[in-house]
Formats: sequence, structure tokens, C-alpha cells
Amino acid sequence: MAYNPFLNFCQVLDRAARIVGMESSEYEILKHPERELKVALPIRMDDGKLEVFEGYRVQHSSQRGPCKGGVRFHPDVNIDEVKALAAWMTFKCAIVNIPYGGGKGGIKVDPSALSAGELERLTRRYTAQILPIIGPQQDIPAPDVGTNAQTMDWMMDTYSMMKGYAVPGVVTGKHIEIGGSLGRTEATGRGIMIITRLAAESHGLSAPAVAIQGAGNVGSISAKLISEVLGFKVVAISDVSGGIYKASGLDIPEILKFIGGKRLLKDYDAAEVRHITNEELLTSEADILIPAALENQITADIAAKLKAKIVIEAANGPTSADADEILSERGIEVYPDILSNAGGVVVSYFEWAQNLQSLYWEEADINRMLEKVMVRSYADVEKCSSEYGVSLRLGAYITALKRLTGAAKLRGIFP
Ligand code: NAD
Repeated sequence: MAYNPFLNFCQVLDRAARIVGMESSEYEILKHPERELKVALPIRMDDGKLEVFEGYRVQHSSQRGPCKGGVRFHPDVNIDEVKALAAWMTFKCAIVNIPYGGGKGGIKVDPSALSAGELERLTRRYTAQILPIIGPQQDIPAPDVGTNAQTMDWMMDTYSMMKGYAVPGVVTGKHIEIGGSLGRTEATGRGIMIITRLAAESHGLSAPAVAIQGAGNVGSISAKLISEVLGFKVVAISDVSGGIYKASGLDIPEILKFIGGKRLLKDYDAAEVRHITNEELLTSEADILIPAALENQITADIAAKLKAKIVIEAANGPTSADADEILSERGIEVYPDILSNAGGVVVSYFEWAQNLQSLYWEEADINRMLEKVMVRSYADVEKCSSEYGVSLRLGAYITALKRLTGAAKLRGIFP
């Protein structure tokens, strides 16, 4: 059967609920997104022809606050993926205990095949189509794979034009000049760096070797901060074209400069650097593996061959359910996505709070608050997983499940 990330989510949810002895009626609602919107997006291409793209916005839960989650532009976007990503956002926001529910959106498109003008028209049409269900108090989009600050600027402008006044709080991840937050671009990578530090400490690793899959926003900033701030050796990194490996540690600043020039790693060359495949990257000689690309990368086959002792999930859903079991049997500790990559949504929350009060904060304060939230959330998850004697993933799910069902009980059922 084809991999279905939403079913994967529901399976883990059932396991977490069984462990705490929760009746299915108490959490059944979490298996059903509150709203699923599918939109058709006709776009005039540069050559004058009309193309119609397909887009989605899913609002999984608003029990704990407005829905929050990114927008993905990728050829593989489909409704089950968007539903899973939205549900993971609900759980992530509950784990880090910020007043949000979860949502996610996407367009089935290869953004690299579109001109800047075509991308802008597509983004604006998508925003107009989902406009009735988004807003600072309803649902707040952000960047994800294939989208960036420019995409958010266009979304904010389109929404504001329709309202007749500037509404910076409708999206997060915008440029600073129009209401973005200091520290937001680095936030997910910074959160990954904090979890990497805590994981290494808990495993008694003082100078671990780290392999990173993906060199986009999350992969490249994680690589930068892990090497610069923690002083750990990054031995492997990859992008869509393949990976590179150097046992004594890669020159990350030089590589990031290379990638910044819009070049692919297959064309990177330096002394002692070996080119490797995606599978070789995932199974490379490293203490810590950080998947930071797409979901379903660590399959059962890869899990059986993994050499790392620790996996820190920077991507959403990078490990399949069967792979998760193999890793657990092999004693490889997985720091789950819904905890590890939450830095982005935490600073998105700070950006939104700044927009709502029109008062902007210093970067040092933002980083300090992010550190506090990540350390506290890690402690909550670890405490829960040791209390029930389960993996960190189940500990994270149980922590979130209790907060979500607790909120639902307080609110009651309407009408
Ligand atoms: P991005 O588009 O900036 O980068 C994606 C990277 O993955 C690129 O380097 C790309 O070349 C690489 N890649 C794509 N397909 C690949 C493949 N088949 N094999 C190997 N590498 C491949 O995206 P991003 O924002 O860095 O997001 C990466 C992951 O992190 C996603 O799962 C996303 O949902 C998750 N995430 C992102 C944020 C955020 O703030 N950007 C926050 C939380 C989670």
C-alpha cells in the first residue's frame, strides 16, 4: 500500500492513547481535521497559456487557539500529506505549549520550474482562494518546503489589499521590513541545535559526528549552528542532487556559501570530500543523523542499516512507522519531529505576538525565550516518556494528547 502519512499519524495516536488508557471517544476528533479546503488555481503563464494548479488548506484543530502551519510548494503535495502535516502542527503547538491549533497548506507545483512572476501570481491567487478561512485570529500560514519570506510577503499583501489595511499578523516568516521577526529565519535550525546539544549531553557524547540530509532552510542553518555554536563535526550533508562526506568534518561556511550561489552539491568539490548517494548519507558513519528534507526518508530498509546512535528529526515525518520500530529495537534514540523542529513555530508565535501588539523585540531576547521553551518542552517530553517507559515519540504524543483532550473537555461540545 502507498505510504499515507495521515494514517501513520493516526496509528501513533492510537498507540499513545492505549498507553494512557484513553477511550477512543475521548480523542476520535483528532483523527478528523476540522476543515479541508481544495482550491483550483488558474494562472496565466509567461507564454500566454493558462495552467490550472491544485492547492489545499487543512485546519486540523483549533481547540487550543487559531490554526497555525506552513504552506508547501512541491510536486508531491496531496491531501493526505497536508492532513498529516496539519495534524503534526496541532501536536507540535501543544508540546511546546503555545496557544495555537494546527493547520497546513500546499500547492502541487514545482516552484523551480516557474518564473518569479508566475510564482507571484500563483501565490496571490492561492491566498485569495483560501482567504475566507485565514486571518490572524483564524489560521496563520508560514513558509515550508518550496516557500520563503517572499512568498509570505505576497500572501500578507494580498490579504491586506482585500481588507483595505495592513494585516501583518495573517502570516509569519515575512521579511523584517513588513513585520517579520528577528531570529525567525534561523529559528527551526536553532531549535534543532538546542535539541542536538541536549541529546548529545544525555548520551554522554562530547564531540559527536553529525550527518544532515537536506541543505535548505532547516538543514543549512542546523549545519551552521551545530558546527559554529556547538563545535560538533558535520561529516555529511546532502541536497536533492546527492550528498558529500568527509570523515574529518566538512567546511560548512564554505559549503553554505557555495549553496547560497544557487548551486547543487553534486558540483561541489574540495580535498578529501567524497560524493555519496542519498542512502549512503542516511547510513553514513556518524553519531547523530538529522533528516532535514522530506517525509518517509528513513524506511525499514534504511533503519536496519543505520549507523547513527541518535536521530534528530528536523523534517516532518521523516521516519516511517515500521522504521520507527526497528530503530527502537536497535536502541537508536529518535528525537521526534513534533518536538525537535518546533523552533520555527515558537518564533512564528513570537512574530505573531509582536504583530498583534505592534511592538518589536530584540533578537537576543527572542533567542533566549526560544531556548527556554525548547529546554522546557524537551524536559516535559522526557519526563512523560520515562513515566510511561516509552520512546520519546510516544512521550511527545502523550504530552500533546493530554493537553489537547484536556482543552476539549474544558470547552465541551458545541452545540
Ligand atoms: P527547503 O525547501 O528549504 O529545503 C529542502 C531541502 O531538501 C533542500 O536542500 C532540497 O534540495 C532537499 N531535498 C529535497 N528532496 C530531497 C531528496 N529526495 N533527497 C535529499 N534531499 C532532498 O525546506 P525546509 O524549510 O528546509 O524544510 C525541510 C523540512 O523541515 C520539511 O520536512 C519541513 O516540513 C520541515 N520543517 C521546516 C520548518 C521551517 O521553518 N522551514 C519548520 C519545521 C519543519
